[in-house]
Amino acid sequence: MRAKKGLTLRSTVNTIVLIAVLATVVISTVIAYRSEKQSLTRTTFQLNHVYTEKISDTVNNLFVNMKQSLQVTGEYLSKDLTREDLHEQLERFQRGNPSFNAVFIVDSNGHIVEGSNVEPSARGTKVNSVGTLQAIKEQRPLISEPYLSGTNKLIVMISQPIKDANGQYAGYIGGSIRLHETNIFQTILGTAPSQDNGTYAYVVSSSGRLLYHPDPNRIGELVVGNEVINDLMAGNGGTKRIINTKGNDMLASYSYIQEAGWGIVSQTPTDVVLNSTRKLVMKIVLYMLPALLIFMAVIYWIVGKVAAPFSKLAQFATLLSPTQSSSDELPKINAWNYEANVLHKALARAIRHFRYQFESLSIEAQTDPLTGLFNRRTMDHFVQNWIAQKASFSMLVMDLDNFKQVNDTYGHDKGDDVLKYLASSLQRLFGENHVCCRFGGEEFVVLVLDEDFNKAIEDAELIRKFMAETKSPTGSAVTLSIGVSHYPGFAHNADQLFRLADEAMYRAKRSGRNRVELEQGAGFDSTEKTS
Ligand code: GH3
Ligand code: MG
Ligand code: MG
Repeated sequence: MRAKKGLTLRSTVNTIVLIAVLATVVISTVIAYRSEKQSLTRTTFQLNHVYTEKISDTVNNLFVNMKQSLQVTGEYLSKDLTREDLHEQLERFQRGNPSFNAVFIVDSNGHIVEGSNVEPSARGTKVNSVGTLQAIKEQRPLISEPYLSGTNKLIVMISQPIKDANGQYAGYIGGSIRLHETNIFQTILGTAPSQDNGTYAYVVSSSGRLLYHPDPNRIGELVVGNEVINDLMAGNGGTKRIINTKGNDMLASYSYIQEAGWGIVSQTPTDVVLNSTRKLVMKIVLYMLPALLIFMAVIYWIVGKVAAPFSKLAQFATLLSPTQSSSDELPKINAWNYEANVLHKALARAIRHFRYQFESLSIEAQTDPLTGLFNRRTMDHFVQNWIAQKASFSMLVMDLDNFKQVNDTYGHDKGDDVLKYLASSLQRLFGENHVCCRFGGEEFVVLVLDEDFNKAIEDAELIRKFMAETKSPTGSAVTLSIGVSHYPGFAHNADQLFRLADEAMYRAKRSGRNRVELEQGAGFDSTEKTS
């Protein structure tokens, strides 16, 4: 069988459908992933930003209040009070402002005068901390950077200068926030938006030191090279995707706390967003999959149905050949498809047409139109084939006697009738057994496939006698002269066989016509060659 050239209709369409479906899945997955990622990222930014804005507002207000309270209290406490009264007033103040871990008054030389939530032993001691020195030096309201207090605690101090009765600088009143103890940051930031997804918030000072961080070990740490913190230092708020100090990819939202010059940052690991996006997209794909599989199966089935008639027709077409027997009918197709039906009809019509043409052409090519007997060419074929097959057969060459006279007497048409009469007589007497041919003009040849030469002579005698004894269309008998020879009995090849039979026929003419003569060859002429 020949190798198939080209793809079948079915596999082509199925491949296209498969590619289309896969492309759709891939494209819609990518689009779903991107838009989901985008919207989740935006939502995360928004949630965090709303949160930092709120905290920023809260802390801001708190600072305004704290500053005011310190100022008012400072003014009041600058009046002469006994130490006990002072202590009581400070304690009362601190209870009213729980944002401070401690409240204290420091004189202009840096000695602690009195305090609430301050070690009693600290009273009277000189403090050399950065915050104290700065407050005394600058003599103005301050919010300090984180520094180590006299008692070795990391604190941030908010201070307000105090004037004495003469209006001279007398020191300051300070409130401290101890960064490692429970403080306002914990109170306010204690709950980030949703801490279970890895979101957390931290607060940085104006110089980039961590004032609050969920990891207590990092409090006080200087954070450098962080884009968000740089932006906060410049007094801006916003949202950014960043790689944090620990190398983690984060979605950060941040707000500036105007009053303190600090910044608050709330950030969510980007992975959290990407993971939930991935999960969502996987879900979408899983939901789509059964529907797609069913869709593919249906398409596969429909394509099969549509392609089947074409496959049948194509298969049939590969078998088409001139030698195909007419019993090989075009297969029936039950097509829904218009083109398949039209093709089927057209192919059926074409096959019928060509078969008819082929058959009529081959009949035309093989037979003599007047008598319907085989023509000379066909006779030659038979002779060649039989010789090739080493068959034994006799050749009868016959010629109508005085046929010219028949034509002259009765006319050419009547002459044709006599020719047809002889042909039908040959067919009636010999039927399918012998090959009867019109050799040309009024000469006929009959091939008798039989080893027995005598059988051929009997048949020659039979037709001769029949013609001699029956009336032809002229109203009287027209006789025949017949020469007979045999292959391979007397002749070695086709030419010789014909020549011998023809010679015998002429001998019959010369001997008076209406006779059968045999030609056995003159003792096998040695010059004759086999073909
Ligand atoms: P002989 O007995 O010697 O064969 O004499 P004859 O007249 O038959 O021989 P001849 O060969 O001289 O004549 C043959 C005639 O056959 C000549 C021709 O007009 C006639 N003939 C040949 N073909 C046809 C044909 O197809 N139809 C008709 N009506 N006559 C034909
Ligand atoms: Mg003749
Ligand atoms: Mg003749």
